[in-house]
Amino acid sequence: METLPKVETIRISYSKAQAFKSCEYKFWLAHVRKYADDSVKPGLMPNEKSEALRRGTHGHLMMEWFHNEVKDTLEFPYDPQECSRIMSSVVARGIALNYEDTSTIMKQMLHYAANVFPYKNWRILEVEKEYRLEVGRDPITGLMKVVPGTIDLVVDISGTVVIIDHKFSADAYKPDRIEIEPQIPVYIGEMRALGIPVRYGIYNFMRTRKMNNVEEQVVQEPVKPNDIRIQQSFADHLTTIVKIIEFQEKLKQPGFIPTRSASNNCDYCDFRRLCKTALKGEDTTAMIEHGFTANDYGYEDL
Ligand code: SF4
Repeated sequence: METLPKVETIRISYSKAQAFKSCEYKFWLAHVRKYADDSVKPGLMPNEKSEALRRGTHGHLMMEWFHNEVKDTLEFPYDPQECSRIMSSVVARGIALNYEDTSTIMKQMLHYAANVFPYKNWRILEVEKEYRLEVGRDPITGLMKVVPGTIDLVVDISGTVVIIDHKFSADAYKPDRIEIEPQIPVYIGEMRALGIPVRYGIYNFMRTRKMNNVEEQVVQEPVKPNDIRIQQSFADHLTTIVKIIEFQEKLKQPGFIPTRSASNNCDYCDFRRLCKTALKGEDTTAMIEHGFTANDYGYEDL
């Protein structure tokens, strides 16, 4: 049987591109440096993930359970009482799996299921839709550039296809951030390139800041970018892919050290102890051995 030649690819998701833009050194630790010679994927993963990352991952899992069960068991329009019942069982599962993180988001999620989601006219089309978009070959290295990703929720609102991204952050984005943040414009561009006629997107915030009024914690922010904004955000992403390819080439040069970008992001960086220890020229072998593992969930390989 004929064997097809192996196509070398570079896969850069939106989140990986953002990681590269925020700090090359962090990107190198999370996506390039191997934990051990026999690790399947490159990159280090902290044994103790930051609270925000852990809570976000858990919240997304609970949202996935909820929307999948609604999609599979309920008729549209969805009955608010049935949505409440499903979310109650999702919260019970969440508590059994991870009490600490569930307890900080359960009030918001129960409110969302009972008082928000069933009244939004969102007919669920897809939950955790995975995709993979080939965007051409790099002329120098020959690598096929691929943009992979996952859309949290795809819904139909009165005949219009809309994508939804769940957020578990302290606060919702301010209006200027919504106008600048490239995530949903990039996703819309990718979906359209794959033939899915997405019209706009919505950030669906379950705010984790402690507040008395749960209605202020559950916030939907629509993003309706025009075609130029979608093209420019997508072009930014393609430019970042090219920069990452160049970065990978530089890593082959002896003595090349990725740049550290110290900023507010350092306060939330899972690698900060490792970063500052290496910066002082101290040995990090034991720290890596005991504090990290080989990359697995959440960080794709190159
Ligand atoms: S602590 Fe700051 S400089 Fe160091 S890897 Fe993290 S983000 Fe980069």
